[in-house]
Amino acid sequence: MLDANTIALRNVSFVYPNGLSALAPVDLDIHEGEFVSILGPSGCGKSTLLRLVAGLLAPSRGSVDLGGEFSTRQIGFVFQSPTLMPWATVETNVHLPFSLAAHPDAESRIDHALNLVGLQEFRQAYPRELSGGMQMRVSIARALAIQPRLLLMDEPFAALDEITRNRLDNDLRNLWAAEKLITLFVTHSVYEAVFLSTRIVVMSPRPGRIVGEVVVDQPHPRSEDFRSSEQFARYCAEASRLLNAGMAESERA
Ligand code: ADP
Repeated sequence: MLDANTIALRNVSFVYPNGLSALAPVDLDIHEGEFVSILGPSGCGKSTLLRLVAGLLAPSRGSVDLGGEFSTRQIGFVFQSPTLMPWATVETNVHLPFSLAAHPDAESRIDHALNLVGLQEFRQAYPRELSGGMQMRVSIARALAIQPRLLLMDEPFAALDEITRNRLDNDLRNLWAAEKLITLFVTHSVYEAVFLSTRIVVMSPRPGRIVGEVVVDQPHPRSEDFRSSEQFARYCAEASRLLNAGMAESERA
């Protein structure tokens, strides 16, 4: 019997309708209180894995079990681009999930989410008036507004410059430490994965399979000092070693 809050992928593989095999059989458990990064080279099936967890795709084989307490309505999804409605204000964009399913606490949830991402001053702004990093914050606020139990993030900061990305990584760490949402974060950056995660799951090139894991056993919240510490370098080296091992194995196959 699964723990009610454990997300369990059992023997999950996925083949796209055109016959492309994106994911080799994957077994993965994600528990309450975890921030798990899926780290792997571009095209290895990370987004596919995230979409399977979100229920946007159904596995070709195997099963995805969100645990008894979960419903797909409790999943927040942040995509690679902010996907905001350009004609609508920040507030209206964050309100979007509630236009689809009305909720009595919508206003207070929107307030809370905008506070969490530091955008309360920008409620009436339009996306074009915001920087790329701020637009991504709106997208995160929209995902948080539904008060998800599970937050899925698909390379949300990949298109941003490094300084903005580091800043958003810091904010996301603090937000996660405060809210303790189960978070599944897709990235191809070793540094980002080590900074953010409690555990890193490393994948091989397509069809992606799990090569190994790195548990980042460091206290929270993590400060900028962690980025320049010896431990940080060691975790990065271990994750890189697994990535390279996965590459080498798939080249031999
Ligand atoms: P990642 O997120 O690791 O970059 P994806 O999960 O997006 O990888 O894609 C895995 C593989 O599946 C890639 O080769 C990609 O081109 C392919 N793919 C993604 N979406 C589709 C689709 N709708 N139809 C066919 N192939 C797809």
